[in-house]
Amino acid sequence: MIYCAVTHSFNGTPSGNFSQIEGGVWPASLAICIHGLAALGLATVPSNTDLHSHSTASDGTLSPVALLSHAAEQGIARFALTDHDTTAGLTAAGAQALELGIELVPGVELSVSWEGKILHVVGLYIDDTHPPLQAGMAILRDARDIRAREIGRRLASHGIEDTYTVARGLAQGEMITRAHYARALVANAQAKSPQDAFRRLLGRGCPGYVDSPGAGLAEAIGWITGAGGIAVLAHPLAYGLTRLWLPLVLTAFGEAGGRAIEVVYGNNTPAQNRKSAQLAREYGFLASLGADYHGPKLGGVRLGELPALPADLEPVWQHPARSLDVTK
Ligand SMILES: [Zn+2]
Repeated sequence: MIYCAVTHSFNGTPSGNFSQIEGGVWPASLAICIHGLAALGLATVPSNTDLHSHSTASDGTLSPVALLSHAAEQGIARFALTDHDTTAGLTAAGAQALELGIELVPGVELSVSWEGKILHVVGLYIDDTHPPLQAGMAILRDARDIRAREIGRRLASHGIEDTYTVARGLAQGEMITRAHYARALVANAQAKSPQDAFRRLLGRGCPGYVDSPGAGLAEAIGWITGAGGIAVLAHPLAYGLTRLWLPLVLTAFGEAGGRAIEVVYGNNTPAQNRKSAQLAREYGFLASLGADYHGPKLGGVRLGELPALPADLEPVWQHPARSLDVTK
């Protein structure tokens, strides 16, 4: 089980939050997180919904078609493709979803800059033809391209040549991301693994680090809601926000029109899932969940293994806003 790798192999602490889950109600005595159940060898009921994933249209390693096929193999019935700053994969994903009988939620993940912090906002149930959304994403993609070239320039000035060319080749005409650079550095024998590349060369404070471009918070949420979508703050506990900043971010996100947060996230520990659920309750957000899957990799998150959302939270897919007409 991927989640147990982070903190523990068994969580024996009863958790009311996860006692009632999709597909059935667990007896109170079994009200422990899904990891504990797995460790006990008991049946687990993972969610068949996943609303955060990436394809080769951004920094994932599977094509939209292959990604949908893999999702189906993993038992996913409701799936969102949420590539960074592009909806280019949605047409192919939609056709494949139809073929496989999966509900495809049209989505995107936008980079947002707020008070000097980069946040990720997932848009779900968007009309991907909405012109302001497409125009906004085009600006973000241009900024990403400038950033990609600057990463290459900085690595070259650090004595590591030619990574831009290799990263561009790996991106195959789609946007060049740090994930492509990480793979390029491995291919050029400058790093042992993508993780090693991030740790020594690409991460914040490293020689090849360049700040990620971002739209304004209200601006990005406006594009999503204007396109009939629901704005979801991705992985609220993954930004390293302090106890002072986390409430400020959540409040600003809600005030700007954000409606939901990711409660269950692929890289969360069970405790972080519970904390995120509590934040959704406190701030009145709808709940979403997603693995943030980028393709198969050793030790990485896998599809079809997320625990279901706590039953007392309103899932983002049950909210009427998901079917709003595009009015702006
Ligand atoms: Zn993501």
